[in-house]
Amino acid sequence: MGAELTMASASAAGDACTYMWACAICDENETCQKDKEGHSRWLVAKRMERIEHKILVMSNKGGVGKSTLSVNLAVSLALKGHEVGICDMDIHGPNIPKMVGAEGQRLKISAGGGIIPHQVYNMKIASMSFLLQNSDDPIIWRDAYKFEFINQLLGGVEWQDLNYLIVDLPPGTGNESVTTMDLIGEVTGCVIVSTPQEVALLDARKSVTFVRDSELPIIGIVENMSGLDCPHCREHIEVFRAGGGEASARDMGVPFLGRIPLDPDVVRQSDSGEPYALFHSDLPTADAYHAVANRVDEFCRKKHKRAPVSVAVQSPFKKK
Ligand code: ADP
Repeated sequence: MGAELTMASASAAGDACTYMWACAICDENETCQKDKEGHSRWLVAKRMERIEHKILVMSNKGGVGKSTLSVNLAVSLALKGHEVGICDMDIHGPNIPKMVGAEGQRLKISAGGGIIPHQVYNMKIASMSFLLQNSDDPIIWRDAYKFEFINQLLGGVEWQDLNYLIVDLPPGTGNESVTTMDLIGEVTGCVIVSTPQEVALLDARKSVTFVRDSELPIIGIVENMSGLDCPHCREHIEVFRAGGGEASARDMGVPFLGRIPLDPDVVRQSDSGEPYALFHSDLPTADAYHAVANRVDEFCRKKHKRAPVSVAVQSPFKKK
């Protein structure tokens, strides 16, 4: 195994309840008859009830910009004044900490036995990356370990009161996605990310069907890497084609949330741990991220009949 889990309940092997630390916040600890799975589900439900909106960011294909969108969506919502957390559910490729400059950080355990999420740029973050001894270590786990870990990220972490928990799912429609959906239960909505070329759209359409079959709300499709304005000659180049995401959204009858351009500065900012939409908050690519965030916020506001937040998006980190 590439990483040794050091958290209180890392053992997926035994049947004994390893969630006894959860009893400290259990209101029925005198009479509790729960088995191990009962405890972990109870704890996840307890954490999730303090989070207003649980948003899943997903795509069936890797490398289309899910994690990048998750980070920029999160900073954009935080800029609007919301309390935001990012749950990096990509066990095999946990890149969120790198994208927010938190690589190498370790999660700490609170006096109550919960896991304290890492705080950065006004957001709470939890990720497998924080548990790796060495960032080059691969995770080679069977499903039982993954199940345990997903439980930990959702129930073990002290997310506390949040307006938004952005869950960055790994590519595909497998174990991690199914388990996350099952444990969260009341997912507010799913954002599906695709690039515009046909091979990516084929996968995005599978994601739409997957979410529909799971009977969860779809917030919409984002078309990422949609056209490049050459930084030298300003010519517009459709590297991965353009418009496919919007057409697929129309064909499948789901909302289209917008296009994010292919922008070399997004890569540079991500690699240096400075979320693009926070540091360049008034450039066109950031506007595209903010527009997606506004649509997500609008969807959630309508769903929970909440008044609009009228805070101007102004980043304290903006580069001059
Ligand atoms: P995924 O989470 O879907 O695997 P990532 O978010 O890790 O994808 O993105 C893959 C790569 O593409 C990263 O290097 C990221 O910086 C880059 N990327 C994502 N979105 C854009 C964009 N709009 N413009 C340029 N590069 C992007």
